[in-house]
Amino acid sequence: MKIVASILTKNPCYQTGEKISVRGLMLHSVGCPRPSAEEFAEEWNAESYERACVHAFIDGDTGVVYQTLPWNHRGRHGGGSSNGTHIGIEMCEPACLTYTSQFAFTCSDLSAARAMAERTYRAAVELFAFLCRKFQLDPQKDGVILSHTEGHQRGIASDHADPEHFWNQLKTGYTMDGFRNDVAKALESLEC
Ligand SMILES: [Zn+2]
Repeated sequence: MKIVASILTKNPCYQTGEKISVRGLMLHSVGCPRPSAEEFAEEWNAESYERACVHAFIDGDTGVVYQTLPWNHRGRHGGGSSNGTHIGIEMCEPACLTYTSQFAFTCSDLSAARAMAERTYRAAVELFAFLCRKFQLDPQKDGVILSHTEGHQRGIASDHADPEHFWNQLKTGYTMDGFRNDVAKALESLEC
């Protein structure tokens, strides 16, 4: 796993300097057709970018992780109380999507989109296993690894459908239960 440090030092969220004690990890996908993590990191690194701040973006073309906040910094990714407990990680999405509403899209190149979904999924599994080890989190424990959607269902995040909307519409077969299992397996292999 390659991690590139690209901390959003100009973003107002970074400038608060607020820390959290990390209790869990929240998985997101960006919800727009932009595969480049570097572009997100550049755009969000601005004093005027007040609406969001996450801990990392996973690049769609390479799977490289762009870390955009210190891991124990309070982010603005989930809305609600999850910002005070969870690290937020965004997976980038392919350029071949056209969003028709907030969480629905058409796709002009299904095989390229699925390949990108697989690349970001695998990178997310590796990153989540790394973070579980770092913060001594049990990936299978209730509430530790959540999607943005699941956070909303629990009343700790805003009403979003990511990343399941992305996986489901591409018919990848990925689920959050499967993701948690894959993270647990990756964690085991890190520890032996
Ligand atoms: Zn989200």
